[in-house]
Amino acid sequence: MLRSFFKAATLALASLALSLPAMAQGFIRDAEIEAILREYTDPILEAAGLIPEDVGLFLIGDPSLNAFVAGGQRIHLNTGLIIRTETPGQLKGVIAHETGHISGAHGARRAADFAKSARSGYVSIGLGIIALAAGAPELGAALIANSRQLTALSFFTHTRAQESSADQAAVTFLERTGQSPAGLVEFFEEFRYQEVLSEARRFEYFRTHPLASDRIRSLRARAEETGLMDVPATERELAQMAVMHAKLIGFLEPPVVVYQRYPETDTSEPARYARAISAMQSVDLGKAIIEIDELLEINPENPYYHELKGQILFEFGKIEDSIEPNRRAVELAPNQPLLMISYARSIIARGGEGDVEQGETLLRQSLIAEPDNAFAWSELAKALDKQGRRYEAQLATAERSFHIGDVVSANAFSLRAIQGLEPNTPLMRRARDIAAVTDSRLKENRRYYRGR
Ligand SMILES: [Zn+2]
Repeated sequence: MLRSFFKAATLALASLALSLPAMAQGFIRDAEIEAILREYTDPILEAAGLIPEDVGLFLIGDPSLNAFVAGGQRIHLNTGLIIRTETPGQLKGVIAHETGHISGAHGARRAADFAKSARSGYVSIGLGIIALAAGAPELGAALIANSRQLTALSFFTHTRAQESSADQAAVTFLERTGQSPAGLVEFFEEFRYQEVLSEARRFEYFRTHPLASDRIRSLRARAEETGLMDVPATERELAQMAVMHAKLIGFLEPPVVVYQRYPETDTSEPARYARAISAMQSVDLGKAIIEIDELLEINPENPYYHELKGQILFEFGKIEDSIEPNRRAVELAPNQPLLMISYARSIIARGGEGDVEQGETLLRQSLIAEPDNAFAWSELAKALDKQGRRYEAQLATAERSFHIGDVVSANAFSLRAIQGLEPNTPLMRRARDIAAVTDSRLKENRRYYRGR
């Protein structure tokens, strides 16, 4: 399921500027793209002596070309960067360069500034554009706070020395993994040229990662020393890049752009994938089903094709029909929290014999992997409510609100849950924790407004 989720830093709610475009930015979640990006990134992190599990990888739904490191070990990639990079080598080059900033601790100052302004760092949790469209206005506020936060984050400019050192480190990491640094060189050379034409100035990435011709010269020299410049991308990497492009373009671009890039005459899997997603986005059920069924015929074992079919059917209100594709997706790719959440959503919505209980189990499993997934918490609240477990449902709603940065609602629901939860249980302790944390945030906010 490709959908946007939003992560918000709660304190920013105190200083909202409501004029910002609400849909401009947000975190995009997609199990398949995340798995691909992990496959691209983890070997580079290991080559840098970092532990992949400790390094967060976040995809931001933003058409501008940008990537940055924030909050210590968190790499952020804009969808605009992925769409604009033409080869796996270029994207990996940028990832390796950002990894160079992490291993060189160049983000330290920015991370410290951010920690000060947002206290707990990223309070991550969110719901998507889909939820917004379905009328969840409180999410709008969290979204705007989030977009502000991200803008503030990407303002930190690296020094020329840091840029050069990240370039050199990037080549070393690619060399250690036996991969070509050609994409890295190409990426910077191409945009250096555009910068000369004063075009790159509109790309955020080059405002925070200044380019200089001597820097690019020494990057090329170092890259050529590796003797790996001609190592080609693998078939697998190329196919993965095509999948990411197809999904992001299908999901984020208007149909006219999708059909320019993927005309009906193109019967390749990525083209069908992009058209299926685009049809879903433009509410054309018939077309979406034709394309996804074609894909399933070509590759019946692809869990993400089943996932997409489940999402299409669910979103068109065909709850019963959405269950089998979602079940199959989980069967083919077990332990994928996002797939489990989609399956849970379908069976909870059906609400037949044992459905709600099974949905609850799936959600609890996925919340172990992603304790800050607000969408899973809101589905869990539904499942608990359907079972008459009112106070537990209220606690789940408090969790959901907390993770999208809605302090007022998190506070109210945790206080309600406290009224009825068993004393001295982990659930009661959690409800009290949320109440206490949100209480002090609300007081800070009140002080903030009084002080203005
Ligand atoms: Zn840089």
